[in-house]
Amino acid sequence: EGRIVKALSGYYYVMPDDSKDASGVIQCRARGIFKKKGLSPLVGDRVVYTLTENGEGTVDEVRPRTSELIRPPVANVDLAVLVFSVSEPVLNLQLLDKFLVHIEHAGIEAVLCLSKGDLTENEELSEEAAAAMVAVERIYRPIGYEVFNTSSQSHEGIAELHERLQGHLSVFSGQSGVGKSSLLNAIVPGLGLETAAISNRLGRGKHTTRHVELIEVGGGGYVADTPGFSQLDFTELGIEQLGDCFLEMREMAPSCKFRGCTHIHEPGCAVLEALEEGSIESSRHRNYTLFMEEMKDRKRRY
Ligand code: GDP
Ligand code: ZN
Repeated sequence: EGRIVKALSGYYYVMPDDSKDASGVIQCRARGIFKKKGLSPLVGDRVVYTLTENGEGTVDEVRPRTSELIRPPVANVDLAVLVFSVSEPVLNLQLLDKFLVHIEHAGIEAVLCLSKGDLTENEELSEEAAAAMVAVERIYRPIGYEVFNTSSQSHEGIAELHERLQGHLSVFSGQSGVGKSSLLNAIVPGLGLETAAISNRLGRGKHTTRHVELIEVGGGGYVADTPGFSQLDFTELGIEQLGDCFLEMREMAPSCKFRGCTHIHEPGCAVLEALEEGSIESSRHRNYTLFMEEMKDRKRRY
């Protein structure tokens, strides 16, 4: 058995479970049976394969998937590292909550990673950077999200983040420029992913029509080399599902007076009571309300 770490031109590259490093990867064709069933193996899939004479192999069976992302197409992702920089670009809590909604909806565990922590030492940016750190700690830790404070430049927190990736198949998510590629480069020496400074110089965007590939991070852990959850519209989410994507609201919903409470105007709403009391953060409820409006608008238009 093994895991597909790359797919290209009809070949699947399988890392055998007992292989120590990338040199053990086996180039495989998928058996015809997959085409007949309309199922194609995906990067991330756990597979059963057989070796053929020429050192290549065939993928015979795909194990049931625990999750399936569409962009990038990866199966079995079980951890999303949501990256936000303490400055440059400035922390945007609305965007952060939007990413979290999409990750929660996909049923994938999320951890928060604050990047560019070295900017707290920067003369001009230290105030903004420190405020961002405090805000994320204060708002998201109590909900239950782990927060990693990191800097690719000073290497602060890199070992801890690396450790957290062991045994998981992860995607790094977050807006462009927050330092996702730089973090992966810091975690995996010699990786050499392109970072913004380089792609700007070449005058083209990063991540254009690339194939997703898994990067080995040790301890059976892999990270997709393409950011996850870059499409943040609400096409795949029903309005009634939104509350469940805010973990602290999901927890309280059973105490609301009405079933199907939207936590916006209902009497006896436990979420609104908690908001009043201050045990639910106002920015979280504000963003929840905004997203709901956005979803309703969408529905009206289409
Ligand atoms: P991505 O678009 O999220 O992959 O971001 P990149 O890794 O390409 O980084 C975007 C920009 O932020 C680049 O100019 C990096 O040099 C810079 N950057 C990345 N990590 C750090 C860091 O830890 N500290 C500082 N000060 N800048 C960083
Ligand atoms: Zn309610």
